[in-house]
Amino acid sequence: MTDLRAIVQKASKAGLALPAFNIPYLPMLEPVVRAVVDQNSFALIETARLEWLKFEAGGPEAVAREFFRWQDAEHVRLHLDHVPVIDEDDQRVDYLAVIEQAIGLGYHSVMVDGSRLALDENIAATRQVAELAHRAGLPCEAELGAVLGHEAGPLPPYDELFASGKGFTKVDEAHRFVAESGCDWLSVAIGNIHGAISGGYRDQKKIAARLDLQHLERLFQASGVPLVLHGGSGIPGEYVLASFKKGITKINIGTEIRQAYESVLKSSGKISTAQDAVYERTCWLVGEYFGLKNTSVLLA
Ligand SMILES: [Zn+2]
Repeated sequence: MTDLRAIVQKASKAGLALPAFNIPYLPMLEPVVRAVVDQNSFALIETARLEWLKFEAGGPEAVAREFFRWQDAEHVRLHLDHVPVIDEDDQRVDYLAVIEQAIGLGYHSVMVDGSRLALDENIAATRQVAELAHRAGLPCEAELGAVLGHEAGPLPPYDELFASGKGFTKVDEAHRFVAESGCDWLSVAIGNIHGAISGGYRDQKKIAARLDLQHLERLFQASGVPLVLHGGSGIPGEYVLASFKKGITKINIGTEIRQAYESVLKSSGKISTAQDAVYERTCWLVGEYFGLKNTSVLLA
């Protein structure tokens, strides 16, 4: 099985990206895998702590069990998304325990999110997790800057947020962060936002976020590692495609397939019909939106 770190490096050099699909409900996993295989693409299946706390993913073990039922190493790998050091509700998390559990379960890569910490603390926490992951032969993703949206309540007006560059990952910090933490992939804030997950907001249509592509280029140069775009749903296609050429090698997709599943489940009452909707949407994302059909041969 080709090493995931090598696959991501290869994709980065080729200006391609790996979509990473979040799984908040277990029945979504099979149609996502099938869509990626049918598009002959290469993607990550991922789950974040909030998806088993605030949705119905069950836990890292339940997602791993479902993944290994449907896995196809030529097309999909399993990633542990956001394990925050401090979570969206400002609670401290025993992040090392969750990461260790995922490594034991056979996850192929992990993410620690220390982005709510001060820079030095984020570096220290990330270094701990990177060492743990590297001992198991796995790549480690980290986050620097504020990708907002998971917190409760409404976001500040998006245009103001974008114009001010508030929360954007800083170029000098990105350089130091990667050098000192040893992380393999870096999630950056360049205008992207997470889909809302708090009760009253999670069904809302996501804002069409823009990306500061010049800033992205500078971050890629300074950090020297493949960059990750969180909050990939709802970003206009021209920004997404341009970002793949300027350093983004992994793009996280949550809201777009979650809302497809939830809305069809609600209207039809049938899990299988909702799974069909997830399959269709994933095929469209991979093939049409990201232009990543037939990329598995380049990567595997
Ligand atoms: Zn994220």
